[in-house]
Amino acid sequence: MKTLYFGDVSVDKVIDGIERFPALNAFPDIDMELFDQNIEWMHSFYEPASKMILLSMHSYLIRTKTLNILVDTCIGNNKHRVGQGPIYKQNEGILSHWNNRNSDYIQNLESFGLSTESIDIVMCTHLHADHVGWNTRLENGTWVPTFPNAKYLFSDEDLENMKKESNSPFDEYTKLVYQDSILPIMESGQATMIDDSTDLGREINLIKTPGHSPGHYCLEIDSNNKKGMLTGDILHNPIQVTCPSLSTVFCDDKDLSNQTRMKIVDNLTDTNTVVLAAHFSGTTAGLINSHNNSRRFDLI
Ligand SMILES: [Zn+2]
Repeated sequence: MKTLYFGDVSVDKVIDGIERFPALNAFPDIDMELFDQNIEWMHSFYEPASKMILLSMHSYLIRTKTLNILVDTCIGNNKHRVGQGPIYKQNEGILSHWNNRNSDYIQNLESFGLSTESIDIVMCTHLHADHVGWNTRLENGTWVPTFPNAKYLFSDEDLENMKKESNSPFDEYTKLVYQDSILPIMESGQATMIDDSTDLGREINLIKTPGHSPGHYCLEIDSNNKKGMLTGDILHNPIQVTCPSLSTVFCDDKDLSNQTRMKIVDNLTDTNTVVLAAHFSGTTAGLINSHNNSRRFDLI
């Protein structure tokens, strides 16, 4: 993705990796013909031969005149990612390489001319394992905040939900994520709960969008009449633009996730608002456009 400019705000994509994931595992309820019917514009996001969707794992680096904001921190390095957990169990073979992985994420971030010290805000759209990984890094056997000067923004609902799941003997996986990627931030005093007083400057708004997780947030950029929407995990693949009532196996509350997605997709259709989803691959940024009585995602 080339650097995008919204008035005084710029946005870059910092890559942690690209995942290939079986479409039917991600969307157990899907009619696979949907992909074939939309293949003309889906080639960056779906491999027809293997029936895999491509899931990019990236952060968005937002720079305003006063703040360097990192949205979502992907999977991370050296994390111990094994054990029981509802989603992990169903996809054990596919996700096993998240265990003790090693990516060039920090070098990718630094290629934008920034150090880890220069990040002011880390905003997690939600607290799933692929959005909090680089919150911390391993230093001499201890998990420490990767961004020592940043305030980390978490949603209260997600944190409470995560604590509850971490205590469940059936969700060892969430416990690992909580202990290595959330707890060190709480203990360092860098965690702040999102509320009405959260202020990221007049160009940035946080929008509560529950469903995928109980306290999921989208982030809207509105500067000099240029608009962008970071949709987090409201959307995992652009097929959900064509069929917004299609939740993934990763969604905590499928019905609420569908309601939220349908509303957001409706609001974004045929506007000039650039959509920046957490997992779209290719050049990632695009517009939701009406097309032949349907909708599609056009990369820009
Ligand atoms: Zn995700």
